[in-house]
This record gives sequence, C-alpha cells and structure tokens, in this order.
Amino acid sequence: MSRDLEEYLRQEVKTTPFCPGCGHGILMGLVLRAIKGLDLDMDQVLFVSGIGCAAWIPSPHFAADTLHTLHGRAVAFATGAKLFRPELTTIVISGDGDLASIGGNHLIHAARRDIDLTVICANNMIYGMTGGQLASTSPLGARTSTSPRGNPWRPFDLCRLMEAAGASFVARFSVTQPLSVIEAIKRAIQKPHFAFVEVLSPCPTQFGRRNQMASPAEMIERLREICVMKEEAEGLGAKELEGKIVTGVFVDA
Ligand code: SF4
Repeated sequence: MSRDLEEYLRQEVKTTPFCPGCGHGILMGLVLRAIKGLDLDMDQVLFVSGIGCAAWIPSPHFAADTLHTLHGRAVAFATGAKLFRPELTTIVISGDGDLASIGGNHLIHAARRDIDLTVICANNMIYGMTGGQLASTSPLGARTSTSPRGNPWRPFDLCRLMEAAGASFVARFSVTQPLSVIEAIKRAIQKPHFAFVEVLSPCPTQFGRRNQMASPAEMIERLREICVMKEEAEGLGAKELEGKIVTGVFVDA
C-alpha cells in the first residue's frame, strides 16, 4: 500500500491474506483513496463485511471500526448498526457469494428500503475462499469446482437486480478502471440512501486457473477486453455486446 494511505491502515497489520495477483488488493487501495478524497474521519466510519476473501478488505486492515460478521449477513448487521448509530458512515464491503448468493435476500430488501448504506461488492464471479464453487454470478459456461463441465445457468446481473429493488445509486466498474471505481465509491458514500457499487475483481487462484487464464496478467487483460462503458455500449448491437460486461453508473436518483 502506498505511503499516502498509511494513516488509514492499522500499523500492526502489515500483510494481507490475498493471493498474488488478486484484485482485492487493488480494490482495498481504491476504497481508501475514495475515503481520503472525501476527507472522511475514520472515527466516523463503520466498515461491515461478511465471510470470504473480500471480507478481509476492511478487517483487520482499516484503522476504523470494522465488523467482520457471519456469512451472508453483512447487510443485516449493517442495517442494525445504521439504525443504532445513524450518524456513522456505514460501508459494507464483501464478495458476490456473500452479498448476492448467501445474503441475497438481505441485499434486495435493504435496497428496497433504501437505507443509507454504501455496499461495495467485489465480484470475482466465484466462491474464492471456500473452494472455488459456482456462484450466482458465475458466467455461463464458467468452470468451477462444482461445475467442472461449465456453468449451465445465466448469472445475476447485480446492477439490474439492485436497480429493480429500488437502490438510489447503482454503478459497476472493474479494478482495471481505477479512477472510475474511486469516483463511484465517493458518489455512493455521499448519497444519503442505499448505494451499490459492483467492482469486478479478478480471482486468479480459483477462477483464472480453471478458465484458461493461468496468470493474473491474463485475467487483467481479459477484463480490459470485455468491459465496455455504458455510453459506448449504447451504440452497439446485441451481437457486438455478446460476452461483454457493461460498466458505468446506472442509477443516480
Ligand atoms: S482465492 Fe481468489 S479472491 Fe481469494 S484471495 Fe485468492 S485470488 Fe483473491
């Protein structure tokens, strides 16, 4: 982590548990850059995470109060915390398996209630920490430890799900679009309603090695190829958009 972010980190925790090449390390830096950009007082910020690799982004690293909760229950804990201490900026950071699969019901109802939470979903399209199982976000045809012949089902489009559930701010970017991620997180935190930011984050260990992307560099390159900005996508046909992931801000109500 670069020196200008040192003040946001617990000095006694100097290493992360992430595999080499994991996108979560990049996302960790981007979250802190957004916090720094807004000049937030870390004593007034509460970070909540569930279980999984992404849940280790805030806890134990960030020099703030962090709640590391049960698998799938980060949004439920954050809802309770927000009701009890509404003055705190409450930010949930967790993975797609935790937030959208196991905890999917908490997520859609928090969006429906439009509670003042910022939810950052690190989407690596697989269950990373628990062994590379198929997630509700795994792409069609993706090989995982529980779908060795390829995923037969369509994945959730998390941003469309959040928009339909009533979230006031919805955005998706990839760690290969770092400035856009920082800007989206800043806007989400400033929104006094339910804000959802999906960040595509490569998992070379569980996803890449099963899907012909053995090296972290190949995963980053692939993300660069498939991500298309919303404005650009509007001018493309269905055929050209096949296999692409549209990124941008989808809702800013
Ligand atoms: S298993 Fe995947 S998501 Fe988890 S730390 Fe390793 S690369 Fe990152």
